[in-house]
Amino acid sequence: MRPSDGDGLFDLVKTLTELTGPVGHEDAVQEWLSRRWGAFAGEVRHTRVGNLLARIGGSGPRLLLFAHADEICLVVKSVTDDGFLHLWHYGRDATGYPPKWFSPVYQPALVVTSTGTVDGVFAKASGHVTGGRLRDKEKTEWNDWFVDVGARSRDEVESLGIFAGARVIWNPTTRRLGRNIVGKAMDDRAALAIVTAAAERLTGEESLAYELWVGSTVQEENGLIGASSLADEVAFDRAIAVDVGLTGDHPGPDPKDFPSKLGAGPTVVYQDASCHYSRRLSDELVDAARRAAVPVQRAVFQFYGSDGAALLRRGVETALLTYPTRYTHSPIETVDERDLLATVDLLYTFARSHSKVLA
Ligand SMILES: [Zn+2]
Repeated sequence: MRPSDGDGLFDLVKTLTELTGPVGHEDAVQEWLSRRWGAFAGEVRHTRVGNLLARIGGSGPRLLLFAHADEICLVVKSVTDDGFLHLWHYGRDATGYPPKWFSPVYQPALVVTSTGTVDGVFAKASGHVTGGRLRDKEKTEWNDWFVDVGARSRDEVESLGIFAGARVIWNPTTRRLGRNIVGKAMDDRAALAIVTAAAERLTGEESLAYELWVGSTVQEENGLIGASSLADEVAFDRAIAVDVGLTGDHPGPDPKDFPSKLGAGPTVVYQDASCHYSRRLSDELVDAARRAAVPVQRAVFQFYGSDGAALLRRGVETALLTYPTRYTHSPIETVDERDLLATVDLLYTFARSHSKVLA
């Protein structure tokens, strides 16, 4: 079945989200995409910092559709004498404490080493053994958390290939839940599924209005590191970053701040905390949604950034296209398959339409 059909796209999302690709160790994702894109692209390039770029075809202005391969993770910073792993954050920690939104404890853990993976659990000491000692503590500290891989000593842990620098992810399977798809790393592998499905559909398309490229970047979550050098690899004219979109359609957020909803179509983001996206290109995406007969939402994301800012800084006209996602940066990131299919349709229509501005 074609990946632009429902079941085909679900299979692609499930495969991509279940790959291990913590920040800075995205190899499994990039290798899988390299094989998949290699089956239909004219050229596939691995860049020196680990980004992946593929030229799909067509001629005209160079358009890049791209998403990031990395998923949020923790990193081993030390191993205790009796074999427990202490952890650090994947990026910058501004406060000295784990952020309130982040709750890995009691999840299964997967340690990603240079040679393979090791199962574990994210743990903290139970109330039965800490008694009143922690009762008055206001904040969780990083060292209250650890990973237990079932070892009894540092030597045993090291014999499994685990040293400081190994990444640790949560590792649920991706599944359908009612109308939704739930799992880890929808941020941003569902986007890579969308980009892949759109590129497959556009391959050999005679009415392509661009020289079309697709890309998968590394280290987005810790500061748009991979995306920062894309413009050195190929002189792109325009770029569309595809990423998770925020919603306010569940208990907690105020819909005045987050009016977007799951199932109401892709969301074009005009501004976030890192930049203002190209208004011209954003408007063209909204117009393409209308022509593709798919619903579309517009938004401003207050506490959010994307790889798009890195391309804008390098002189590439860039927009941000998102698919509504609940519970971002958790093991239960939740999307609606109809939004993903609509995003593929939108990109397919956009890439085939000559821009009045660039013509
Ligand atoms: Zn993302």
